Formats: sequence, structure tokens, C-alpha cells
Amino acid sequence: MNRTRTPSRARALAAALLATSLVAALAAGCGKAGTPPPKGPQPSALPTYQVQDAARITGSSTLDAARSRGHLVVGAKEDQPYLGQKNPATGVYSGFDIEIAKMLAASLGFPPDKVQFRTIASANRETALQNGQVDYYVGTYTINDNRKKLVGFAGPYFVAGQSLLVRKNDKAIHGPQDLNGKKVCSAAGSTPYQRIKSTYPEAHLIGYDTYSACVDNLITDQVDAVTTDNAILLGYAAKAPDELKVVGPLFSSEPYGVGTPKNDTVLRGALNDALAAHEQNGDWKKAFDATLGLSGEPAPNPPQINRY
Ligand code: GLU
Repeated sequence: MNRTRTPSRARALAAALLATSLVAALAAGCGKAGTPPPKGPQPSALPTYQVQDAARITGSSTLDAARSRGHLVVGAKEDQPYLGQKNPATGVYSGFDIEIAKMLAASLGFPPDKVQFRTIASANRETALQNGQVDYYVGTYTINDNRKKLVGFAGPYFVAGQSLLVRKNDKAIHGPQDLNGKKVCSAAGSTPYQRIKSTYPEAHLIGYDTYSACVDNLITDQVDAVTTDNAILLGYAAKAPDELKVVGPLFSSEPYGVGTPKNDTVLRGALNDALAAHEQNGDWKKAFDATLGLSGEPAPNPPQINRY
């Protein structure tokens, strides 16, 4: 029983986090008196990306459709701080994944105002790419062989690892070995969910559509831990440092790819070329420092691109 946090305060914080309105309010300067300024993607620090004349890229049915539509549709997450987050007031998406999506779009000939983001949950990514609901997808999407049977992947552009988020006052959970009998929440259709199911069957696994729903349940004592990639968890912990902490070692490798329709190899090749160019010219690092870097991760070297 936690004596220092009243249920109503916990619920209020959870609601605020869930709606991301806390972040929006702080960003607008409406924080409690005495709260430090929020850390968040700073528009002024973000690079702008040179829009290429991409007419030379021919033979991609996805790009042809986007050109005649007049804009790209990119799948993303909207509730993952520093990675992919939608401002509920303005509808604007921001974060490292969003920057990756924008730099790639610029190389394909689409300026930022010609990129429309669409939120797609972890469990629905393959279907969205297969049905043409999105042209490509950038949202903490691990490349693996199972998924490669259904979709294509450019990248990787970052490598994360599975970790655990617990309440700040938790003393029992230090790693996945401590999850026996504990309520652990993750997103359905994700690799971390699958790994707990197969490798830690004694854990009481709960699946929601989103990690923010899991975090809501963690703050209100409905679950004991949230598990997914460290990059995602560090963002939630950075937004609620008095309530939450990331614990334990990384217990997987999660190489993030840009999801594409499986058979559009021209698009996949063009995205790999674009990624390499933006890593080379410094855009990748600038984008990282202005987004994910704010959750406390130093910029790594970008991983080797895997063309297949
Ligand atoms: N990277 C993991 C995955 O692709 C977890 C994050 C997510 O669900 O987006 O399943």
C-alpha cells in the first residue's frame, strides 16, 4: 500500500499521461508553479530536410499512388514520448520516429506538409501495410523474420532492447526473472508481449492496444510492470520521474525498421538509400539529439543498414 500517493492523484496523473494532455499543458507553459520546464522535442533544434527531386525513382507502385494522391500517408504511434507522439490540441506528431519518417519523405520528394501521419497500433501494422492504408510505417517496429513474411523493412535505423517499467517505490522487480506471478502489461501484437508469453510463462501477462494504456494501469496499481523496448519506457519514465522507473538489463535486441508493402522493393531500396544519406549528412544525429536524446539516451552510432 502506498501511503504517499492518494488514489485520486494517481488516477489524475494516469489520465493526464494517457491523454498526453499533461505533456501538452506543460509544453504550453501551463505547468504547476515550480515545476521544471518540460523536456520535449524542441522545434528550433530539429533539422530541416532537403526535399529531393525524386522523379528518378520509378517502378514503385506505392510512390506512384502517393504522387497521384498528392501526399504520403505514413503509419506511426501517437502515445510514445520522444518517439512518436501526437499533440492532442494541434494534431501535430513529433519524436524520433516522426523525424525519420520526414527525412525519408523529403528524399522521396515530399515536403513535411505533404506527409500525413496515421496512428496504427502494434497489432495492426502488417494489415495496414498490406491493405495500403499507409505507404510506409515508422513506429518502434522491430524487424524480424516472421514479420518479413508479411511486410518489407528498410533499415534498421536504431536498435532498442526489451526492458521493464515499474512504480518508483517498487522493490521487488529487478528483471524478467522477478515477474513470476506478477501482472505484466504490454501491447498485443508486439515482440515484447510475445517474449514474455514464451519465455516467462509464470508472469501474468496482460495485453492492451497501446503502452500508454499499460502505463495508466501501472500508475493506478492495476498492474505491476510494463514491458517493451527501453527507448519507449525511458520516455514514460522521463515524463513521470516521481512515479516511474526503468529497471533491469535489456533482455532482447529490437532493431527498428521502416515497414513497407512487402513486394515494393523499389520503395524499400529508395528508403535505404535515403536513410544512408541522412545518416551521412548529420540529419540522423541532429534528429536523435532533439528527440529521443532528451529522454536520457546518448546518441549511438546508427546501425548497419541491412539490404536484403
Ligand atoms: N519493437 C517492438 C515491436 O515491434 C515493441 C514496440 C512496439 O510494439 O511498437 O513489437
